[in-house]
Amino acid sequence: MSKRRTLVAGNWKMNGSRAESAALVGAVKRGVGAGVKAEVAICPPFILIPFAAETLAGSPVAWGGQNLSIHKSGAYTGEISGPMLRDFGCSYAIVGHSERRAYYGEDDQVVAQKFGAAQAAGLIPILCVGETLAEREAGTTEAVVARSLDAVLAAHGIAAFKHAVIAYEPVWAIGTGKTATPQQAQAVHAFIRGRLAALDQAVAGGVRILYGGSVKGANAKELFGQADIDGGLIGGASLNAEEFLSICRAAD
Ligand code: PEP
Repeated sequence: MSKRRTLVAGNWKMNGSRAESAALVGAVKRGVGAGVKAEVAICPPFILIPFAAETLAGSPVAWGGQNLSIHKSGAYTGEISGPMLRDFGCSYAIVGHSERRAYYGEDDQVVAQKFGAAQAAGLIPILCVGETLAEREAGTTEAVVARSLDAVLAAHGIAAFKHAVIAYEPVWAIGTGKTATPQQAQAVHAFIRGRLAALDQAVAGGVRILYGGSVKGANAKELFGQADIDGGLIGGASLNAEEFLSICRAAD
């Protein structure tokens, strides 16, 4: 089994002017270059990707898209495709973020299509899964996570997870300041890995499973110290270079 290298990915969401992005990308590039061991990626809004690509080329920081179309090209006004992201040097594409699921009606089937579209373009999908507060309180966390995973497994098979990242993001913890406890997160991460291991032990052992949901410098180390937590998908804290870098260092 290959050793899993910790990945810290920053999801900027719909934030950042040109000037703010220049300062943020520059600071992250310098900070990571000064000796962060974890793999680091940022996912800016589409319009800022060319700028990130130019600034980060040749640096250890990777970049990716927050979303992508299920189509390669054509009459899909307003969409951005996997090949376009790849053309601008993206390594990753986030698929199935809870905000896409909640506000843009992306269900598990659409997310599975996006997962496939990312891989077809040579991108590594970061597949987000996670339960709402109501689902957790109803005791259906594992069922919800399993349903999202199974949709991708049904469409693409277990081998597809050799070139994918999973992010467990409890919806109730995203942007709320409420973090899952390391034990709560570890339990779901172990469940995810176990579900994949039932199909292929080596793939399950190699796949990186990130935690996302109000991660900060102050809570990152304990979360990343859990056996099945291989890094983080960071929203709000990725907009502050010092905070984001402290999370990256906590992953070392
Ligand atoms: C996210 O948007 O993926 C996320 C985890 O956000 P935050 O870190 O702000 O909770």
